[in-house]
Amino acid sequence: MNLPADLKIILRQKVNLADHCTMRVGGEAAYYAEPSNEEELLELLEYARHEKLQYVVIGRGSNVLFPDEGYAGLVISMTRFDENHLLVDKEAKTVYASGAVLLSKLSNACKDAGLAGAEFLGGIPGTVGGALIMNAGYSRFPGQRNQIGDIVLEVSVMNPEGRRFLLSKGELRFSYRQSNLNGFIILGAKLKLWKRDRETIEKEMKKNYCYRNRYQDLDHPSCGSVFKNPLRPKPSARGLIEKLGLKGMRIGDAMVSMKHGNFIINAGNAKSSEIIELIQKIQKLVFDATEILLEPEIRIIQQH
Ligand SMILES: Cc1cc2nc3c(=O)[nH]c(=O)nc-3n(C[C@H](O)[C@H](O)[C@H](O)COP(=O)(O)OP(=O)(O)OC[C@H]3O[C@@H](n4cnc5c(N)ncnc54)[C@H](O)[C@@H]3O)c2cc1C
Repeated sequence: MNLPADLKIILRQKVNLADHCTMRVGGEAAYYAEPSNEEELLELLEYARHEKLQYVVIGRGSNVLFPDEGYAGLVISMTRFDENHLLVDKEAKTVYASGAVLLSKLSNACKDAGLAGAEFLGGIPGTVGGALIMNAGYSRFPGQRNQIGDIVLEVSVMNPEGRRFLLSKGELRFSYRQSNLNGFIILGAKLKLWKRDRETIEKEMKKNYCYRNRYQDLDHPSCGSVFKNPLRPKPSARGLIEKLGLKGMRIGDAMVSMKHGNFIINAGNAKSSEIIELIQKIQKLVFDATEILLEPEIRIIQQH
């Protein structure tokens, strides 16, 4: 398809999706764009509607798996959207961040302002937009759940028709790695924090980083934890996988990390299909042994 000459936004064709996700797999996107403002985003949505193209919105791609066949529609990366919009209000104890802001940047800005509550986000390699969709969270204490949904005040979104909304806390629903924001494009969010001295916040962040470094496999391409943890008191996904001795199991270059049983890593030139096959194999082995069905946390992008 030839691109119309009057499009203002740069729309690229045949873009390698492995370059836009942390697992480093996936075929080509037929169309790919990185809108930097609302006008460009609206133009893209209009273009997709006009050409009857399916679209998918991504952030850092740290929780998505694209198929080897690629994506026949339009991939909209929100990583440049209003990318530096990060506003801390020390008095009100709030922070507004655009959907593109990296969680590490957000967490550091809160620390610098002496605002606590976002320390747990610091080591998660995603954007605010992706974290809200996923209700991302982290705690080094088993059973404790720090999730971004707990500190959200309001979220600014756009619907597929290009209408902008502000969703208040009362309209938002967050549960474990889920939100009611699917289908919306996240433009930004306001979070509510609380005052604390900088040193204590910094200490907490350092402890989180040390813990992540010690236990997570951060040396290979991955999507982080592949499976959600079953409800307590059932064992963690990692515990179940490791108890069955599945660390190191591989299909092609898709491999269960030797360091963390709930991480699948790309050990070289893994294919998306190999990762999916490995996910299914783990599910079957765990189910056969325990009757617990592990549910994937990562999002496998499918064309409808
Ligand atoms: C090494 C490693 C460690 C990790 N540790 C953790 C952890 O501790 N806790 C945790 O919760 N997760 C963790 N993750 C997973 C991941 O980083 C989080 O889920 C993160 O919030 C995803 O953000 P993203 O910007 O990469 O989103 P993406 O992966 O790009 O997208 C995730 C989902 O959100 C949608 N989306 C993204 N941006 C937008 C937007 N602006 N508007 C609308 N939809 C959007 C996508 O369509 C997709 O459905 C880890 C991943 C890795 C690689």
